[in-house]
Formats: sequence, C-alpha cells, structure tokens
Amino acid sequence: MSPAPTLVWFRRDLRLADHPALAAALARGGPVLPVFVLDDRPPWSPGAASRWWLHHSLAALSGTLEARGGRLVLLRGAPEEELPRLAASMGAGAVMWNRRPEPHERDREARLGRALAGTGIEAREFPGDQLFEPGGVRSREGNPFQVFTPFWRAALALPPPPMPLPAPAALPPVAAPPGPALEDLGLMPRIGWWHGMADTWRPGEAGALARLDTFLAGAVDAYASLRDHPDVTGTSMLSPHLAFGEISPRHLWHAVAARPASAGSETFLKELGWREFSRHLLAAFPGLPEAPLKREFAAFPWQPDPAGFAAWKRGLTGFPIVDAGMRQLWHTGWMHNRVRMIVASFLVKDLLAPWRLGEDWFWDTLVDADLASNAASWQWVAGCGADAAPFFRVFNPVVQGEKFDPRGRYVRRWVPELAGLPDLAVHRPWEAPPLVLRDAGVSLGRTYPAPILDHGAARKRALAAYQSVTAAKG
Ligand code: FAD
Repeated sequence: MSPAPTLVWFRRDLRLADHPALAAALARGGPVLPVFVLDDRPPWSPGAASRWWLHHSLAALSGTLEARGGRLVLLRGAPEEELPRLAASMGAGAVMWNRRPEPHERDREARLGRALAGTGIEAREFPGDQLFEPGGVRSREGNPFQVFTPFWRAALALPPPPMPLPAPAALPPVAAPPGPALEDLGLMPRIGWWHGMADTWRPGEAGALARLDTFLAGAVDAYASLRDHPDVTGTSMLSPHLAFGEISPRHLWHAVAARPASAGSETFLKELGWREFSRHLLAAFPGLPEAPLKREFAAFPWQPDPAGFAAWKRGLTGFPIVDAGMRQLWHTGWMHNRVRMIVASFLVKDLLAPWRLGEDWFWDTLVDADLASNAASWQWVAGCGADAAPFFRVFNPVVQGEKFDPRGRYVRRWVPELAGLPDLAVHRPWEAPPLVLRDAGVSLGRTYPAPILDHGAARKRALAAYQSVTAAKG
C-alpha cells in the first residue's frame, strides 16, 4: 500500500532545489502536496514590496511544480489551523517544513506541532536557509558571538555546509481540494507603482539561477574592489532571491567555493557570513527587531521630525547621494549596500530619527526585506547593536558620495534633475556657482531641494545626544 500523502509547508523557501523538507517528503513515498499559507497577521506580515515579490514567486513556483507533475495549493489564515485541517481532509500522514529563524515563525511552527500532536499525523522540521544551524556557532564558553570576526572565524573552522540537494525531476500526482487562486490572495498592489520592480527583477527560482550565472560569469572576481561602488553592478543582487528562498545559501556557497580561490569569492562568502551572523543574533536575541541590543540606547533622546522623515522617504533631502538611494529603493525595491549605510546614517544621526522608523520603511519597501538582516543592520548603523559601527562615526554624505560615486553616475541615474551638473558639483550642488547651476538647469529650492539641514551642526547634535546616553550609563 502506498504511504499516505505528505504536506510540505512552503514559506520563504520557494524553490525545488536544496529543499530538505520536500526531499524528505518525496523519499517517504506516496503523494506530496506543497502548500503555501498566507498569514497576514502581525507581527512582521510582509510589506508592500515583499507582497509584490511573493505574488510572482508563488506564480513561478506553481509553474515549476506543474511542469513536474505536481501542484501548489494556496491557503489563507493561520497555518496551525489550515494545515491540520487540510491534512485531515486528505488523510495525510505527515506535514513537513524547513525551519525559519524569525521568533514569530518559530512560534507558528511550535503551534503547528502542538496542533498535530495526538492526531496521528507526523510533524517534521528540517534545517532552514542557513549555512550553519542557529546555535551551532558559539564561543569556547558556549556563548553566542556578538562580534562578527570571531563568529566568522569559528564558522569557517566547522565542517563546510552540506552539499545542496538536487531538485526533483518529477512529483507524484496528488488529488487535493482547490484553494484560493493566486489573484485572490490580494498580494498585488492596487496602484501600479511596481513597474520599476517588474523591469528590474525576475522573481522565482529560474530568475535566481540566472542572476547567479550572471554574477559568476562577471562581477565575482572583482567583487572585493567593486562591491562598495553603487555606480557599477559590482554585487550579485541575489538578496531578494535569498530572502524568498528561491536559492539556498548552501547552493551559493558551493557554487562560489568551487571556483579558483580569489579575493572576490572570499569576500563574497564573508558577506554571506554577515547574513548568517544576523540570523545567529536573532536566534540569540529574539527582541532584536524591536529593541536595542545595547540597553542604554533605550533612553536615547531621538528627535522625531515628521517633515525630515517625509523628505528622507521621498528622496528630497537635498543631499544627492541620500536622495539617489531613497529613489532607487522606491523605484526598484532594492538599494546598494553602501548607500543603505549612508541613508541609514543620515536618518538616525543627521535627523536623529529613531532607527525603528527606518527599519519599518525598509521593511515595507525592500524586495529583500529580511527580519534578521534588516534589524541587525539598522542596529549596526545606529550604534546600538552587535559589533556596531561606533555612534560617533557619523557618515558625511558628501564625502561618501564623492568617494564611492566619484563621477556622479549613480546620482545622475536616480536624481535626473542634477544630471547636467559637472562632476565637482554633483554631490554638493549648494556650493556650485550660480552660473554653473543655471547652465545645468538646476534651481535649488525649485527643481531640487536645498539641503534640509546643515550636516556639521547635525553631527554635533548627534554626538551630544550620544554623550548624554553614555554619560548616563557611566
Ligand atoms: P551582495 O554584496 O552580492 O552579497 C551577497 C549576499 O550576502 C546578499 O544577497 C545578502 O544575502 C548577504 N549580505 C551582503 N551584505 C550583507 C549585510 N551587510 N548583512 C546581511 N547580509 C548581507 N539585506 C537583506 O537581505 N535584507 C534586508 O532587509 C537588509 N536590510 C538592510 C538594512 C540596512 C540599513 C543595511 C545597511 C543593510 C541591509 N541589508 C539587508 C544588507 C545588504 O545591504 C544587502 O544584503 C545587500 O545590499 C544585498 O545586495 P546583493 O544581493 O547585491 O549583495
């Protein structure tokens, strides 16, 4: 007799290759039904850009499954209610899934496990989207690392991540009740602001593999020197594919490690290490997305400034590199890492806005929004997290722009109203002589904003605020 069907609960692992739960379900024998459950309840339900990506990624997954004889069932609601109900109605023998690192997802898994206990339906979980399992990388004393370098050294001393599992060539046919259609999940925005994202990305496993091929054929060898330059395509742009699990980090690791050693591949693996580090931090400090790791920052005198925050969101601060980054984010759902650091520093240090505001805005607008990486990075920039950039290191947006976008190509691409300025003026238009501005068609305050603050004064204010907190601690 063939074994009873197995449900595979897909979440942010929207792929067929290197999917431990799917591989185990197929090895068990019998029909296998992949299921995705949209759970819109807070906390951290997907932001608008993620919902757009999710819609297309589910469409892609569904197509790949169908091409192999399988199908994807979509449901909406609480997984711990929907999955046991579906499993019981189909006479399923098991529900399987890959672990997630987010605390609220771990809670969902625990609730599902409890709901299935005693029903005779087996519940099994498998390693998630990490190179090294949470808690697997610890100091000699058994504590979680809070500094990246020793964390990564300890990780590299472990056995390498397992080889990725192949994608199944076929799935056994399965009879299942129909769920809602993809369109009925309501993931697509009602207003068509997503065209820039559609022009930039190809969500789904095939899109992820194509991105990886492009990166391996091009930028990887120069990655160490180009990764900080937003004016060239010097990084992989794989982050949304990783965030939705369309490609696994184990797959990336082995694809890169198999190449002849180079500074580029070593640096790239180290960046994957930062992703790991964020996940390990989230596992060790589940409050990471909501509260500062350094407790004294709970009393930090942030200065909420709605007008400044609105200018930052819309890319209208008058600081070209900041505005270029915020507009790239709005248009494509992605921003270069160097520019993320610059705009984040501007928000929390120049504007003294609480880092949680930036975290929430990124959560809503990034196609690669990832709870662990986003929270850890915002805390890093704000100086209140693990291995954080010291608060007193305040990025100067002009110096950063001139160093990493020396010809102003990035600014001209995203802030076209400054495109006519010469290189010397493009990062500091307010210092350009009137004739230069006129020739470039720039009128400050009319075609492009005058700077909304004086960076020197803002820096002093930030340092004073920081000192008030450290003095209170001391
Ligand atoms: P590559 O340079 O090609 O790196 C390869 C992969 O390594 C990335 O796809 C990513 O998964 C990982 N990675 C690289 N740098 C980092 C890093 N500093 N921290 C964690 N992982 C890293 N990344 C997210 O994936 N989701 C987020 O929500 C997110 N929020 C951020 C918020 C702020 C304020 C900052 C400063 C950074 C944030 N990052 C986030 C990290 C980083 O900016 C992106 O991962 C990177 O820009 C993605 O581009 P890429 O795929 O071309 O990266």
